Amino acid sequence: MADTQLMQIPGHIDPLPVPRDITPREDGRIDLLGLPRTRIAELFGEAGLDTKAAKLRSRQVYHWLYHRGITDFEAMTDIAKTMRPWLAARYVIGRPEIVEAQHSVDGTRKWLLRTDDGHDFEMVFIPDADRGTLCVSSQVGCTLNCRFCHTGTMRLVRNLTAGEIVGQVMLARDALGEWPRSGQADLAALNDDLVDDEGGYSADGRLLTNIVMMGMGEPLYNFDNVRDALKLVMDGDGLALSKRRITLSTSGVVPLMARCGDEIGVNLAVSLHAVTKEVRDEIVPINRKFGIEELLQACADYPRVSNARRITFEYVMLKDKNDSDDEARELIRLIRHYKLYAKVNLIPFNPWPGAPYECSEPSRIRRFSEILFDAGISAPVRTPRGRDIDAACGQLKTASERKSRAELDRLYAEKQAALG
Ligand code: SF4
Repeated sequence: MADTQLMQIPGHIDPLPVPRDITPREDGRIDLLGLPRTRIAELFGEAGLDTKAAKLRSRQVYHWLYHRGITDFEAMTDIAKTMRPWLAARYVIGRPEIVEAQHSVDGTRKWLLRTDDGHDFEMVFIPDADRGTLCVSSQVGCTLNCRFCHTGTMRLVRNLTAGEIVGQVMLARDALGEWPRSGQADLAALNDDLVDDEGGYSADGRLLTNIVMMGMGEPLYNFDNVRDALKLVMDGDGLALSKRRITLSTSGVVPLMARCGDEIGVNLAVSLHAVTKEVRDEIVPINRKFGIEELLQACADYPRVSNARRITFEYVMLKDKNDSDDEARELIRLIRHYKLYAKVNLIPFNPWPGAPYECSEPSRIRRFSEILFDAGISAPVRTPRGRDIDAACGQLKTASERKSRAELDRLYAEKQAALG
């Protein structure tokens, strides 16, 4: 197992650069997972293929890799038999390692995954009657310390690579048996209609139809890798999932929101959780850097927002903290003031051991929701899912990280001292 040096954390709300290029495995082979077609062609060229052959082979491998979910070069039937051992000697197509898979009584599934340098992270699949949503992680741990969030009590270990991010979606498709069956017509132009058409896919009663970047980490603090991974997910010859079915959730990294709209183009969700500076400073500390006004202006400027494509505001319901009638009315005022096409997701707080808050009473949550609905703003109350396996919103935290922050700081200091 290769060692990954823990990163310096300059402050609780600062982004961390993550220098990480392709890392050959111990046997010298390169994992192609997460690489775009052009990069695969470059690698083939560096390994000795001429430009034309590198282009052709990269196109074929890319299709098998991302569109068919194939990991064995021998199964790539349109590649010459003599070429397959050449590929297998130099490259692999990997997946994140599955450490543990859990199944909730309500059908939610959670996987504990491990990077090849030994760091654990999680992904969650939430089946509903009309959709199946995969909640994908972007970092191991998180820097942002949102006070209601269990993941936020973890130290940020590192950003996930594009391969580790797209690998989650591919693992879920493996687990659900959702790759196009061989011999079927190509689904290169897969669109929303086809997603709902079981003709190309088989699954164990569910389909992976939607992706939310809402697992561990702040996706905009790992912008390049998240963008590169989602491009593979959205590419018609890649995983071919419509951008309309992908939502990226940010706690409010204002300077990167416009780039997210321009360069990725997916739906936006914002972890708002409070309507006053005082409360949001406390529960979403990035607010001290990018305040509510700046955040809502960035939402108003987010490209291609419309009534049909609204921004989602996530709002966790914390007893006596952010759940009063006045706060519901202030939320309405803000949405109107910034002329936002928005809906609000009300999330009953999922307590975890040592959490500093309690969940609002059900009657309080209903009242808050009614005030918003009466003003014409959709504000459904989200049903908690996967509570029995700690898969619910804000509960993700890997077992290996169930250590106190003081303990983690001590381990980090020891590691730094050992490195001299
Ligand atoms: S809510 Fe998201 S951004 Fe905030 S600490 Fe948790 S994982 Fe990080």
